[in-house]
This record gives sequence, structure tokens and C-alpha cells, in this order.
Amino acid sequence: MVMTDLQFTRTEAQRLSDAEREAILRDPGFGNHFTDHMISIVWTKDAGWHDAEVLPYGPIPMDPASSVLHYGQEIFEGLKAYRRPDGSVVTFRPDANARRLNDSARRLALPEIPEELFVAAIDALVSADAAWVPSGEDQSLYLRPFLIADESFLGVRAAERARFLIIASPAGPYFTGGVQPVSIWLSDEHSRAGRGGTGAAKCGGNYAASLLPQQVAAENGCQQVLFTDSATDDTIDELGGMNLFLVRSDGTLVTPRLNGNILDGITRRSLIQLARDRGHAVEEREVTVSEWREGVEQGTITEAFACGTAAVITPIRSLKGVGLDIDFGDRAPGRLTMSLREELTGIQFGAGEDRHGWLHVVVPATEGATR
Ligand SMILES: *Cc1c(COP(=O)(O)O)cnc(C)c1O
Repeated sequence: MVMTDLQFTRTEAQRLSDAEREAILRDPGFGNHFTDHMISIVWTKDAGWHDAEVLPYGPIPMDPASSVLHYGQEIFEGLKAYRRPDGSVVTFRPDANARRLNDSARRLALPEIPEELFVAAIDALVSADAAWVPSGEDQSLYLRPFLIADESFLGVRAAERARFLIIASPAGPYFTGGVQPVSIWLSDEHSRAGRGGTGAAKCGGNYAASLLPQQVAAENGCQQVLFTDSATDDTIDELGGMNLFLVRSDGTLVTPRLNGNILDGITRRSLIQLARDRGHAVEEREVTVSEWREGVEQGTITEAFACGTAAVITPIRSLKGVGLDIDFGDRAPGRLTMSLREELTGIQFGAGEDRHGWLHVVVPATEGATR
């Protein structure tokens, strides 16, 4: 049964004073502070989705036998709410996050949530916490929906009780002091995904597995880690939490195809569309480290970047690894990289035209302006 008419019970509370909130919004950083409210919706095998609530942000009761704590049945999403110059608040392609959450849910044997309920839940939280959507340059409200199995049962099977939650955290510009190209480390010891695994699902387990390789990257002076397909050690999958693009000297963009190991990024998809709109060819296919190395040597690959909701586009300067150092030098960040970044953030923040109907208005201009 599709529950499109589930009503949210609201228990509103202002956790922090206006002055405290404003102090946080001046320099929120990323993931450090949380808003006044959160969403909780319960699912049980027998009753489906019920008990939809807007609650004061705070700890959730959890039984120590809760399945998520033992077998890691957890998935999540990430999207942002933006305040436009007219005061309105919008989210970016929330329906795509809903569909992806359900793709992840199927792989992790968690219940799917109706797309309209997911979007209504985001809207309910952003409306309750509209005062937390910052208006400074490149600032946004980061939204973190997640779904956990919380049946108290140690047997190994899919849980028959789950809980969907959304929390929100104000976010400042990802790059303070201008966009800086990063160096990335080619993981040689560890993989993030293999054929038939969970690489295409946005699950906490994939992130847990990426933390050690991320530490290895940092020890080698790199900010991010790049994973290749464990079967070839040459075919590029993606970074720990971002998709990868290479740019050829003729303006063609090349990105690994969705091979079942990588996440179907919404930023990736949006950039493919924007590049094609400009007349660039975009190839979704197998991409290898060898192609990157030889392309840079021969001058046929001129830019590289990573993309995801949190940082939008991160220009890449170099790819390092054991016996490997591919470096664009001073040519990074590339021109196309930066102009795509500007176009996408322009749409999100309301400076550019939303040709594809990607924006979802949560708080209309008239209401937003009076807050
Ligand atoms: C979330 C995520 C991305 C980026 O997806 P967006 O929808 O663009 O934010 C890329 N790779 C992984 C592994 C991710 O978890």
C-alpha cells in the first residue's frame, strides 16, 4: 500500500536561541552543528510506514540488540537546501534521492519508502528549520536522510522493523579561501567494491571500508582516495564518496559507466546533462589509470575532477600511487571544470535558469522573505 496521505505529528521546539543559531550560521563548517528538529518515520513488516513525526533534534532510543548495530543494515542519502536571493528555499532533485534510497534499500534488504513520502519528509524538516538555511555565499543546509534496521533480534535475516530519520546540518563553503585542486591516492591494497557487492548502494558499510584507505591516502599527502575495479586494478571505479570525470583536449568528458560497483551520483548525472546541453560529447564507459597516465603525457587529457553533493566539483591536480605520479601541475583547476561548477551552483542558488526543472520549492519567496 502506498501511503501518500501519512500526516506528520509535529513537536516543535527551538533548541538554540536565535543568537546562538546566528553565530553558528556565520561559520558553520561541515557536519558540526545540527538544527532544532529531525524527522522520524517507523516501518514494520505488518503495519508498513507509520508514526511520521517532526521531533526536536536529539538522541534516539535504541535497544542494544538492534540489528543495525550488529549487521550494519543501514543506508543513507545526502542533499542540500539552498536559500535563493528572493528568500525562497529550494532543494535540488529530491525525487532522485528518493529513487536512489530505494535502490539502496533493495540491496540491503530494507523496506522501500514511497517517493512522495520521502519528499514530504524533507519538506517537513526544511520548513520546520527554515531559519537554519543560511544565506551566505556558497552556504546551504545539508540534509542527511538515513534508514536503519532497528528490530531487537540477533538472528541473521532482514529486520522486520526499520526507522527512517532525517537530520540537517548547516554547511559553509567546502573550500575556504577559494577552490583548491586536490591530490588523490590510488589505493593499491584495498578495494571498495567487487562484482555483486554493495558498491552501487549508498550504505554506511562502504564508508567504513573506505576509512583505512583514506588514512593511507593522507599518509601519502593526498586528500582523497581513488578505487579501481578489484578485478583489473586498472579500471577506475570512483573515489571514496565522489564520482570521477576526465576531460579530453577536444572538450569530451569521460566518466566510468555505472558498472554495478559505483554510485549513481546525482551531481554526476546533472553534470553529464549540462555538458551535453553545451554540445560537449560525454562518454560513459570503462576508464583506466593507464588511459589517464598516457593522456596526460600526450596532452590529450587536460583536466580531471571529482563530484558529489557536498563539494559539488573538486578539481584534481594529481593522481599518486605506488610508483605513479600523474600531475597536471599549474594547469589545475581546469577551465571546463570550473565553468561547470559555476553553472551547477548557479542553478542551485538561483542565479542561473533551472532549464530541467531540478529545483523543488519548499519555502516560497514571500514567506522566506519575511523570516
Ligand atoms: C554519495 C556518493 C557519491 C555522490 O553522489 P551525489 O548524489 O552526487 O552526492 C559518489 N560516490 C559515493 C560512494 C557516494 O556515496
